[in-house]
Amino acid sequence: MCSVGGTDFEFEREEIEVERYKCSDCGNKFDAMGEKVVCPSCRSENVVKA
Ligand SMILES: [Zn+2]
Repeated sequence: MCSVGGTDFEFEREEIEVERYKCSDCGNKFDAMGEKVVCPSCRSENVVKA
């Protein structure tokens, strides 16, 4: 008998929206998500959506 069981991968699929940002201070472009986005390069919060 062929038993195919236990393949219970029901992971939570959250909608993760990654957006493109640009740092106004150092000009670094990066992908980020969430509400508080800081530049990974200079840690500035002065970022805008690109
Ligand atoms: Zn920066």
